[in-house]
Amino acid sequence: MNPLFELQDFSVAYGAVEAVHSVALRVDEGEIVTVIGPNGAGKTTLLCAAMGLLPSTGSVTLAGERIARPSVEAMVARGVALVPERRELFGEMPVEDNLLLGGFYRWRTGRRDQRERMEEVFAIFPRLKERRAQLASTLSGGERQMLAIGRALMARPKLLMLDEPSLGLAPLIVREVLNVVSSLRSHGVSVLLVEQNARAALQVADRGYVLETGAVALTGPAQALLHDRRIIDTYLGLG
Ligand code: ATP
Repeated sequence: MNPLFELQDFSVAYGAVEAVHSVALRVDEGEIVTVIGPNGAGKTTLLCAAMGLLPSTGSVTLAGERIARPSVEAMVARGVALVPERRELFGEMPVEDNLLLGGFYRWRTGRRDQRERMEEVFAIFPRLKERRAQLASTLSGGERQMLAIGRALMARPKLLMLDEPSLGLAPLIVREVLNVVSSLRSHGVSVLLVEQNARAALQVADRGYVLETGAVALTGPAQALLHDRRIIDTYLGLG
């Protein structure tokens, strides 16, 4: 497997406080990689800085190319998309328009291309097709998360970064959303999934990283982490 995305000695500070400390992390092509860890461990900070939304030190490499100054523009142009924790949908706009906005920045292409891409997204999320004319604010929590992911997919990313897609969703819906996330592999999309819901995330991921107070405490195949005594005791409750 070729590394698609790599962070080395990656650190992020808020003023004098270092929230992410010398992280090494890799996502190979076709992989689903999860970052789990407690509240405040630095997961969101890691993802936002990796997307170029926050200043960082260390190295960010995409498909073998070192990105000298990670910025949102540089990352988007190289096929990275982020679905933020708050989902940031336009509630007063229909599902279709929310989707069209997702492809806007990367592809200043014709309407035909956008329609084609939207049909591909609808094939992944048939529910969005049924709801295409509905205002985003009228969707259920699970549907809103699917719309946020669908909107990011409109840019045809190679790497999708997801921040806590399970947040606020009922367990059954979490499963449904994460199953779709794991199916993205077959659409040529690799995934970096940040989750507090460690069990659900490890069940769909290939590999995992455990982040504790800004540093990687443990890493390995997701199945091994699911059966690791330290992970079971700390993150999985009665496993
Ligand atoms: P959660 O799951 O609660 O989102 P997290 O693992 O994503 O947690 P972060 O939100 O990245 O953790 O926070 C990491 C650390 O950085 C915490 O100690 C937090 O208080 C601090 N932090 C986050 N945002 C800021 C900010 N804008 N300014 C200063 N410190 C911050």
